[in-house]
Amino acid sequence: MVINPVKTWLGCTVFAERLTYGKILPEAADHHTEKRASMSHPSLLDRQDIRYLVVHCSDTPDDDLLTARDIHAMHLGFGWDGVGYHRVITRDGVIEHGRPEYWVGAHVYGHNTESLGVCLIGRNVFTSAQMAALHEVISGWKVTYPQAQICGHCDFDNTEKTCPNFDVRAWAREQGLA
Ligand SMILES: [Zn+2]
Repeated sequence: MVINPVKTWLGCTVFAERLTYGKILPEAADHHTEKRASMSHPSLLDRQDIRYLVVHCSDTPDDDLLTARDIHAMHLGFGWDGVGYHRVITRDGVIEHGRPEYWVGAHVYGHNTESLGVCLIGRNVFTSAQMAALHEVISGWKVTYPQAQICGHCDFDNTEKTCPNFDVRAWAREQGLA
């Protein structure tokens, strides 16, 4: 398979065919013909589909106080259907909604149909309020999706990203979540 990032934004390389729910961006179409067929399937997630709970960061300066609306606007600007994550956690620890959990996200290439994504705003050091909020999000998801593994974006083999720049699996173990 040719892995061809068509857009890179905020450190998370994402792929247009996973973002557009049937609308294939022109620059992506050539490289993802086999994926186009899969778009005939409903872009909805069933609870039992969820195998991964994926933690991301926005890869923006830690003093940049972005919100889900900023990410939504940015992703819309790319011609996508808006924010690709299911949750966004602001620097002050507010949990904001992105896509609903029944809607396929756009955050981890090759695994969007079997995962949910949460994005911490920032890059290097996350606030204690953010980490508490992350615990809240993940622990809540684990109730609904007990079969799902908790991981970071960088834990997938098909990315060279370091996102979210900490060891999510170790954190989850420390938190008693995994
Ligand atoms: Zn990421």
